[in-house]
Amino acid sequence: MDALIRELSAVVGDKVCLWGEGVDWAPYATERRGLFLGRPLAVVEPAATAEVAEVVRLCAAARVAMVPQGGNTGLCGGAIPDASGSQVVITLRRMQRIRALDAANDTMTVEAGCLLARVKEAAAGAGRLFALDLASEGSCQIGGNVATNAGGNWVLRYGTMAAQLLGVEAVLPDGRIYNGLRTVRKDNTGYRLDDLFVGSEGTLGLITACTLRLHPLPTVRRTACVVVRDLEAAVALLGLVRAALGDVLAVFEVMDAVAVHLVHRHMGVTLPFEPGFAWLVLLEAWGHDAALEEAFAQILYRAMAEDLVQDAVLAESGAQHEALWALRENISEAERLEGASIKHDPAVPRSALPGYVRAVRAALDDFLPGCTLCVFGHLGDGNLHVNVFPPPGVAAGRGLWEAVNQIVYDLAVSHGGSFSAEHGVGALRRAALMRHKDATALELMRQIKRTLDPHNLMNPGKVL
Ligand SMILES: Cc1cc2nc3c(=O)[nH]c(=O)nc-3n(C[C@H](O)[C@H](O)[C@H](O)COP(=O)(O)OP(=O)(O)OC[C@H]3O[C@@H](n4cnc5c(N)ncnc54)[C@H](O)[C@@H]3O)c2cc1C
Repeated sequence: MDALIRELSAVVGDKVCLWGEGVDWAPYATERRGLFLGRPLAVVEPAATAEVAEVVRLCAAARVAMVPQGGNTGLCGGAIPDASGSQVVITLRRMQRIRALDAANDTMTVEAGCLLARVKEAAAGAGRLFALDLASEGSCQIGGNVATNAGGNWVLRYGTMAAQLLGVEAVLPDGRIYNGLRTVRKDNTGYRLDDLFVGSEGTLGLITACTLRLHPLPTVRRTACVVVRDLEAAVALLGLVRAALGDVLAVFEVMDAVAVHLVHRHMGVTLPFEPGFAWLVLLEAWGHDAALEEAFAQILYRAMAEDLVQDAVLAESGAQHEALWALRENISEAERLEGASIKHDPAVPRSALPGYVRAVRAALDDFLPGCTLCVFGHLGDGNLHVNVFPPPGVAAGRGLWEAVNQIVYDLAVSHGGSFSAEHGVGALRRAALMRHKDATALELMRQIKRTLDPHNLMNPGKVL
């Protein structure tokens, strides 16, 4: 292996080819929730696509496995090497250039290591919106967003990362460079190969750059937080607002009382309503017409008159907007401070959500009496986080995780949904993929993997 390390160092430079004793591997080898702890052979940080290609060629020739890593904010162990000390982590954090921004064409081309927050800032600087919003935006990279098909808070209006993507440049597992960077919206010249990399979780190659679709920046934004009795009312409210105002809702997030009280207790965030509520909904309407402000307020009054909404707060200032968002954005951290929980990110059709959550609650009351559910998330997308705190005195060990996962996943699938709508499969959910994915789809996935990566060198042990 010494020869390979020497060759890799020669490509990227000594300082950014980390190996040997004394290196602090933790930032590259620890999953943020501590579920996976690896040990790489080396960490390599190329600065250009040609360097990535050369690094991959060298590893492939030596039959050494590679693990693409972005911001390492993923939540299923996909970017973590195994513990064998034989895998090379390739991180793109030195590839952060914005190669082009064409405001007239509403497109930009960025290198994969660009932080999501930076992509959004650059777009906003040109008077455009890059429509992806994750709480991890200060750490996650656009390449990681493509590789996980990230979702977040604005999917209801703009779709997931897949919908923001026009093309990718990627280094294939043998070192060839695929160049799909194009800034046209229509191109019917054969298979849309770029889509193979969406949700590929580093198993088909390293995404080195991508071309992104931009949107007009909304000029009117209204934020409200409302109390609803139950999820049925929340789903009905969504229908009412969309029917009345059209496609203006960018955000429709629900939080149950458990989630909101955790944020209040652990993060000191002020409650906008007296305790006693069951669910809150955070909604945002975006548009370009000042009349939207009044129309948004009116539809909330109507929802109150129709008894869909019990109480409501409309943000009247930037500070109020921030205070309402603090409730939503701090849930994960508040959960962490509360203690270990078993986390899930299923999706079912919106219409099936209330029944799904009721079924999960009933099944878990039966299986794990005394457990606490913390339910929140992107109701507009049918995607909720259903997190389970075991009863006091019961450890959230691996066996319990798997049993609880199975209940939550099986019910998601039987309600017509997906066991993972956001975080993906990684190393954590391979068994669930085998259990729930259509057999033909699995076989096609394996065939694609074998075709591109016949020696299984690109992120082995992940997804398949
Ligand atoms: C606080 C917090 C909030 C979050 N909120 C959301 C949310 O709302 N919605 C959501 O969808 N996710 C969310 N996530 C999960 C995570 O941020 C996303 O999955 C994100 O897209 C991962 O990007 P990353 O750069 O950190 O990728 P990493 O974690 O580094 O990698 C994730 C996977 O992508 C692969 N990969 C990374 N970069 C590349 C590349 N250049 N080429 C090929 N493969 C690559 C890795 O091998 C790995 O399999 C959240 C995470 C945190 C910590």
